[in-house]
Amino acid sequence: MKERGILTVVSGFAGSGKGTLMRELTSRYDNYALSVSATTRDPRPGEKEGREYFFKSTEEFKEMIETDAFIEYAQYVNHYYGTPREYVEAQLMDGKDVILEIEIQGALQVKKKFPETLLLFVTPPSAEILKKRLVGRGTETMPVIEARLSRAAEEAEGIGAYDYLIINDQIEECVNMMHHIIRNEHMRASRNIDFINKMKEGLRSLSKGE
Ligand code: 5GP
Repeated sequence: MKERGILTVVSGFAGSGKGTLMRELTSRYDNYALSVSATTRDPRPGEKEGREYFFKSTEEFKEMIETDAFIEYAQYVNHYYGTPREYVEAQLMDGKDVILEIEIQGALQVKKKFPETLLLFVTPPSAEILKKRLVGRGTETMPVIEARLSRAAEEAEGIGAYDYLIINDQIEECVNMMHHIIRNEHMRASRNIDFINKMKEGLRSLSKGE
């Protein structure tokens, strides 16, 4: 049987560069599976159905909630976002390390349901750099940027619930850091109970002279 993959949640302020980080990480290493969320927001220029998101109407989204099709879902700046259950479970079973790039309310729901989830938080080096990146990316209007900044202030209150903080100054360094954190997580003793039991059993039989 394959070792079950690790479920990792990556959150971060809008503009923290976590999207680029995820793309780099998943294109460089093949042990990762990036979950594609469903959302009720409109596609941004260049976004493709099924690649960045599954774009849904509010009715469709609510139907998915009712049929328990999500691991978690949350509202973020007037829209719904949710993680479809089926893909995540299948990939974990297949031994892939599954990454959910979701906001904090969803992250906490996932941690509650699956306490072994690894929670990572990505942030730019400072609040000023965050604003500069949001304005510079030019995909949102000023009122949307303001809403996202005030949401970031709320989100900052929850960072303490995460396992690791990743300060995104240098993308290259960040990708490496994230990969190592997840790789090391595989070695945590509590994730290797089968191995430990087998070792104990083997040692017991050896010491009995079997
Ligand atoms: P954006 O509209 O910029 O793509 O995403 C807005 C926020 O929603 C980001 O913080 C993103 O991580 C979060 N998000 C994306 N998909 C999901 C999801 O499935 N569930 C939750 N809870 N948040 C999500």
